Amino acid sequence: MRCASCGHEDTRVVDSRPADSGAAIRRRRECENCGHRFTTYERLEPQLTVRKRNGRIEAFSALKLASGLSAALADRDVSGSDVQALVAEVEAALRESGPEVSSELIGKEVLDRLRGVDEVAYLRFASVYKDFQDATDFEREMAELESAE
Ligand SMILES: [Zn+2]
Repeated sequence: MRCASCGHEDTRVVDSRPADSGAAIRRRRECENCGHRFTTYERLEPQLTVRKRNGRIEAFSALKLASGLSAALADRDVSGSDVQALVAEVEAALRESGPEVSSELIGKEVLDRLRGVDEVAYLRFASVYKDFQDATDFEREMAELESAE
């Protein structure tokens, strides 16, 4: 853990005790460089769950999202690390609305970001995630894309 005062990478734990009735661990740390002391808390990260359109609940899978995105970006000029960065951004946004999110929200968060990355991938992903009812939806998306340029 980086020192909160001087930015030094190595800090030493000088005290460690349970907090929040055992739900967290409170640690006092001391910087090996400047001697600054500060406190950190370790907590279980809440499991992010997804409510599907059919009402089923399942665990959020960053891996699944990454493979869906990779498929949409298959022959596009977007690197694997761009996909990972996109997934990390989406997951962070979902955690802010979590712990339970809808599959629609995931689609929306992905599409909001994908639009700026690659338009073809955006449309491919949109066709999967937005469940286009008919061609009108698709045309509206196209029109929105064009007006955004
Ligand atoms: Zn320091």
